[in-house]
Amino acid sequence: MSNSLIQSRRRFLMNVGASAITLPVLTDAFGNSIQSEPRQGRKLGIALVGLGSYSKNQLAPALQQTQNCRLAGVVTGTPSKAEEWMQKYNIPKANVYDYKTFDRIADNKDIDVVYVVLPNSMHEEFVVRAAQAGKHVICEKPMAITPKACQNMIEACKKANKQLAIGYRLHYEPFTKEVMRLGQEKVFGPIKFIESSDGFRIGDPTQWRMKKDMAGGGPLMDVGIYAVQGSRYVTGEEPISVTAQFSPKTEPQKFKDVEETLFWQFEFPSGAVSNSTTSYTAGIERLYAACQNGWFELSPAFGYGPLKGRTSKGPIEQPVVNHQAMHMDGVCKDLLDGKKLPDHITGEEGLRDVRLLQAIYRAAETGRKIDLKA
Ligand code: NAD
Repeated sequence: MSNSLIQSRRRFLMNVGASAITLPVLTDAFGNSIQSEPRQGRKLGIALVGLGSYSKNQLAPALQQTQNCRLAGVVTGTPSKAEEWMQKYNIPKANVYDYKTFDRIADNKDIDVVYVVLPNSMHEEFVVRAAQAGKHVICEKPMAITPKACQNMIEACKKANKQLAIGYRLHYEPFTKEVMRLGQEKVFGPIKFIESSDGFRIGDPTQWRMKKDMAGGGPLMDVGIYAVQGSRYVTGEEPISVTAQFSPKTEPQKFKDVEETLFWQFEFPSGAVSNSTTSYTAGIERLYAACQNGWFELSPAFGYGPLKGRTSKGPIEQPVVNHQAMHMDGVCKDLLDGKKLPDHITGEEGLRDVRLLQAIYRAAETGRKIDLKA
């Protein structure tokens, strides 16, 4: 195991040891806190918009663990869900809205942050309305289905003087932060090539994810975005060109509207190249960087965890955390402190990714190498 890995493990273990008698403060390999310290001040109130699978199974449970925010309200089009959530999470009726009454949230002092967890094509409308209601916003990935929509969302938040974060939960996750460090600090020398892929076998073919007008595309919009992010955050660079290929459809009846499997290749300014796959027909989830003097990888790399990592010098040891709680706490800490959110989780980052997703589709459709420098 490398010295830095041993040291980081030692630091982690020392802090875990200390937590038995003092505050549970964990640090990552950078020495940054990876768990929010309890604040004396108030928690920000979050309203979840859209009570589907991600809100129900991930965000609401995570909000029971957060230090800097709490589940304060919901916005839903389904009255029976409203009843269920009010009871389960002790939410007052005054903090429950539907899509028509949503704008009245402007008068609700309990709600500081609106978290948009709707199908991709609906993000723009609800982020703009949330900003106009004077709330900070967190918006799920992909930020929107067109760059123009992303720009409108950024503009609306700027105009309202409110901050906009994207649901990039991995940016607060310790294994991910460690591979960002290994790549960006060239711990194993310059990165030569990367394999970064994310896919799964999708179920119900009638769901919105299979409709281009609601999802913006297929697996690339949904999970391929993680592979795009992965290659960007381990290099710390922006790609300068892209080529891409659609696979032939093995289930053409199911994949009438969106791609089934898609491959793409980025070139980066340092000379690093990446090769990626995304798919709705079979599973893959890995991020591998081959460097001049070794390699590192995460697999699984992008799901809810626990993530696992290895390097050519041994395993990556990091604490396992709740991604959603870390993300919401991290965003809300900055909001409470009146700080500007770091660029890599804002709407600007969301826009960069959506531009790249569109360029990947353009490259696959035309068969041409697309220059991204322009
Ligand atoms: P879902 O289908 O489970 O839920 C969508 C919600 O939107 C439902 O409550 C549905 O009732 C509501 N809705 C309102 N109008 C609708 C319409 N016209 N058609 C369909 N649904 C409508 O989806 P989900 O998995 O919760 O995904 C929601 C968002 O969260 C997506 O943008 C997705 O990419 C994102 N997401 C992010 C992560 C992550 O790890 N960051 C994980 C899952 C989903």
